[in-house]
Amino acid sequence: MAQEDVFKKIVAHCKEYGFVFPSSDIYDGLAAVYDYGQNGVELKNNIKQYWWQSMVLLHDNIVGIDSAIFMHPTIWKASGHVDAFNDPLIDNRDSKKRYRADVLIEDEIAKYDDKIEKEVAKAAKRFKENFDEAKYRATSPKVLELQEKRDALHTRYSAAMNAMDLNELRQIILDEEIVCPISGTRNWTEVRQFNLMFSTEMGSTADGAMKVYLRPETAQGIFVNYLNVQKTGRMKVPFGIAQIGKAFRNEIVARQFIFRMREFEQMEMQFFVRPGTEMEWFSKWKETRMKWHQALGFGADHYRFHDHEKLAHYANAATDVEFLMPFGFKEVEGIHSRTNFDLSQHEKYSGKSIKYFDPETNESYTPYVIETSIGVDRMFLSVMSAAYTEEQLENGETRVVLKLPAALAPVKLAVLPLVKKDGLPEKAREIVNDLKFHFNTIYDEKDSIGKRYRRQDAVGTPYCVTVDHDTLNDNCVTLRNRDTMQQERVAISELNSIIADRVSITSLLKKLQ
Ligand code: ATP
Repeated sequence: MAQEDVFKKIVAHCKEYGFVFPSSDIYDGLAAVYDYGQNGVELKNNIKQYWWQSMVLLHDNIVGIDSAIFMHPTIWKASGHVDAFNDPLIDNRDSKKRYRADVLIEDEIAKYDDKIEKEVAKAAKRFKENFDEAKYRATSPKVLELQEKRDALHTRYSAAMNAMDLNELRQIILDEEIVCPISGTRNWTEVRQFNLMFSTEMGSTADGAMKVYLRPETAQGIFVNYLNVQKTGRMKVPFGIAQIGKAFRNEIVARQFIFRMREFEQMEMQFFVRPGTEMEWFSKWKETRMKWHQALGFGADHYRFHDHEKLAHYANAATDVEFLMPFGFKEVEGIHSRTNFDLSQHEKYSGKSIKYFDPETNESYTPYVIETSIGVDRMFLSVMSAAYTEEQLENGETRVVLKLPAALAPVKLAVLPLVKKDGLPEKAREIVNDLKFHFNTIYDEKDSIGKRYRRQDAVGTPYCVTVDHDTLNDNCVTLRNRDTMQQERVAISELNSIIADRVSITSLLKKLQ
C-alpha cells in the first residue's frame, strides 16, 4: 500500500475509533486544531506519564513545574520571540494560497532526492545481484547531474536562510520555476516575515489593556522560574526542571494532521549545568532520550538523529530525533544546547540577578542549559503510525490491529461475557469491579465475541478475557493476547498478577535503567 494511503487510513482510524476528532467538527472544523476523544486522551495521558516519570521519578535532580500560559509580555521580547519568531511567507496571486517560502524550497530539494532514489532503484532492478550501489551513485552521469543541482540549490537556500534574505528566497523560487500546487502558476508575491505568536489583550479597559501572547513554547516558563525552583528546592547544579503544557503557534501552513497544529502540547526539560560541561551533558541527553524512544519497541530503524548544520545564534549544538512517519523521517523532538542565552536575557530585561552560587567551586555564574523538547501530539502520531497494522488472517479476512505498547494502550483489558444471560454478565462485571482499581478495564457485551475482539484490536487493547459457562464452576476465563491471538485458560485470581506488570508504565521505565 502506498504510504500516502496508509496515512489517510490512520487519520480515518483516529476519528472512527475515538482517538482524534477535528476541532469544532459540527461546524466543519477549525484549521489545524484537533480534539482528542475517549481513547485518544488515554493514549495521550499515558505518553505524558511515561515522559514525566522518566524525568521526575527516575532522576533525583529533576523536578517539575506547571507555569501559566499567559506570561509577562517582556518575557517574549527577552527570549527573542517578538523580533525573530518568524517564518518567511509568500502568496500565490492566482490561487490566493499562502505558503512558507522555505518549505516550498525544501520540497524542491526533496524532489531532487526522490529523483535520485528513483534512478538508483531503477538501476538496482536492471542489474539485479550485480548491482554496486555506491559505484552507481558515484559514476552515473544522470545521478551526478541531479546531485550537483540539488547541492547547489541547498547551498544557496542555506545561505539565504542564514542571512534571512527574503529577496533571495523569492529569487530561488522563481529560478527553480516552482509553481503553486493549486493554480499551477508562478505568479508569486514578495516574501514577507510572519510572526507565529498569537496575541490577545489582558485587562478590561481599552487604554489599560496590555497586549499578551499565548506562549509559543513552554520553556520560558521554566527559565523565569529557574531561581524560584533552585532556591525553594535547594537544587544543586546540575539539575533539571520539567514541564508539560500547551503551546500555540500561528503556523502558516498547517498540514499533515496533528503533525503541525496551531494549538499543541509540549514536554520540555531544561537541564542547568556548569559552563564548559554542556557538551558532555548534550551527548548524555541525546543518548538518554533515544533510549526512551526505543524502549517502546518499534525498532531502532524507526529513529535517527538529524544534527543541525544551521544553529540558532544562541545554540552551540542541536539535534532532532526523527521518526519514520508514513510521510518520511520527521522531527519529533529537539535537543538543544542553548548556552546561557535565555537566563542572561532574562537577567538583562528584568534587571534581577539570577546567578547561581556554586558551593563546590565558590563562584557565581549563569548556568548553561541543555533542553529536550518533544511534542506530545507528534509523539502520539508516531506511536499511532508505528502501531497501525493490517493483517491478513488465515480465513481470508483482514484484521486492523493497533500494536500499541501495552503500557500506552488506552484500555488494558476488556472483559466479555460469552452471552448476555445465565449469570455471565454479572460474573464479568465482578471481574471488572475488582480489576478496575489496578488498570483500565472495560466491560463489553454487545455483538458476537469475534466482533468484540476486532473492536478491541482496533483500539489496541492488549488483553481480552471471555467469561463462559464453565467460568461459573471453575472460576477460570479465556485470556486472549491481542498480537498473537493465542488464548489460554487462566484463573480469575491470577489475572491481576499476569496483566498488571506487563501493562504498567513501570515496565517501560525499567528498560531505561
Ligand atoms: P518544526 O521545524 O517542525 O516547525 P520546531 O523545530 O519549530 O519544529 P521546536 O520549536 O524545537 O520545533 O519545538 C519542539 C517540539 O515541539 C518539536 O520537536 C515538535 O515535536 C513540537 N512542535 C513544534 N511545533 C509544533 C506544531 N505546530 N504542532 C505540533 N507539534 C509541534
